[in-house]
Amino acid sequence: MNEEIKKFADAIEECNYIVFFGGAGVSTESGIPDFRSTDGLYNQKYKYPPETIVSHSFYMNRTEEFYEFYKDKMLAPNAEPNAAHKKLAELEERGKLKAVVTQNIDGLHQKAGSKEVLELHGSVHRNYCTKCRKFFGMDYIVHSDGVPTCDECGGLIKPDVVLYEEGLDSNIISRTVNHISHADMLIIGGTSLVVYPAAGLIDYFKGKYLVVINMAPTPRDKNADILINGKIGEVFSQIK
Ligand code: NAD
Repeated sequence: MNEEIKKFADAIEECNYIVFFGGAGVSTESGIPDFRSTDGLYNQKYKYPPETIVSHSFYMNRTEEFYEFYKDKMLAPNAEPNAAHKKLAELEERGKLKAVVTQNIDGLHQKAGSKEVLELHGSVHRNYCTKCRKFFGMDYIVHSDGVPTCDECGGLIKPDVVLYEEGLDSNIISRTVNHISHADMLIIGGTSLVVYPAAGLIDYFKGKYLVVINMAPTPRDKNADILINGKIGEVFSQIK
């Protein structure tokens, strides 16, 4: 175990209000590509950049193309939690970790057993008819042909995912701010910290240990008390 990981393990033992703030990099070891790594979605070739496709106006105006990309690239029905998701759930079970705040929409933290999961950008597991509000799970979207419509009223279905140009849920934001401002350790992991307003929420942290675990450098590396450059699943698998 390297020195920084040892420091991280010791700090976990000392802390009792740990909050995790993560992004797409948490799920790459589960086989879901992130946006900005070299094999991420930004470096694959599409007719439009991913942030254009997963935007509100694109969803409204080019619904068919939106769903083509969304089903192909954003849904991973067979993905399983990795060591990072599992360790975070275990730390919550032990009473050490109080919340996972995630920009991910894949539901893997809940699949690993985490309870207090604040999904800043929603979830692919929740989908609603825009006309009658009927709920649909991910399977309905996966097995639909083309644009999914409601089996009751024929209305267009929208994933409960925060698209570019859309606002964040105020209740999720206030719960996130509350947890982060009470935390004695904030672990930032697997995120480039470039998507706002989500990334700005970490400014509420005033606790003892700011930990950053990421493959690529982030804008908060310079503020970190513990900085680990590596794969987050591999790092967490070394923590007892
Ligand atoms: P990002 O793609 O901008 O950044 C991912 C970061 O994670 C990069 O800095 C990369 O170096 C790092 N990383 C990749 N694999 C890693 C690993 N195994 N261990 C440690 N670090 C690793 O992702 P972002 O900051 O979350 O922003 C992208 C947006 O896209 C988010 O808002 C999110 O909602 C969405 N998104 C979600 C998923 C998902 O739900 N799994 C996947 C792709 C994109």
